[in-house]
Amino acid sequence: MIIMVPDTPDYLSGTTCFEKKYPQITDISISITETKSGLKREYLQAGYHDVKKVPGIHPCSNPKCREGGLDIHRIIGDMVTKNQSNHEIRLRSCIGYTTLPRGNSPGTRCSRDFTARVQIAYRDSAQPTSSDK
Ligand SMILES: [Zn+2]
Repeated sequence: MIIMVPDTPDYLSGTTCFEKKYPQITDISISITETKSGLKREYLQAGYHDVKKVPGIHPCSNPKCREGGLDIHRIIGDMVTKNQSNHEIRLRSCIGYTTLPRGNSPGTRCSRDFTARVQIAYRDSAQPTSSDK
């Protein structure tokens, strides 16, 4: 019996395989700045520069935040649909909660904000994606 061991078990940590989903993307560069709004503003920088390592959601660093982060998957999906190669996200709120909605309580939204700059390089878009599956 042969057990298949994947080279990159990234899907275990929530990484979406953009490379397979969007074969037209050859190169990607994402720079993210997370802003903690509060008494003193702090900035956290992160970046992804490899299409194989782009997560579906960039995690929020707030330890109290649940299910939060920046929805990279959706941003890239939008960009690919519009064939955009440059896009800037200005202050998108974290999608997470510091108190999850429960019963008739609406929960408390995480107060972190994200700014991101995304650059995508596409394969020659003049011809449809060749099927080399
Ligand atoms: Zn958050």
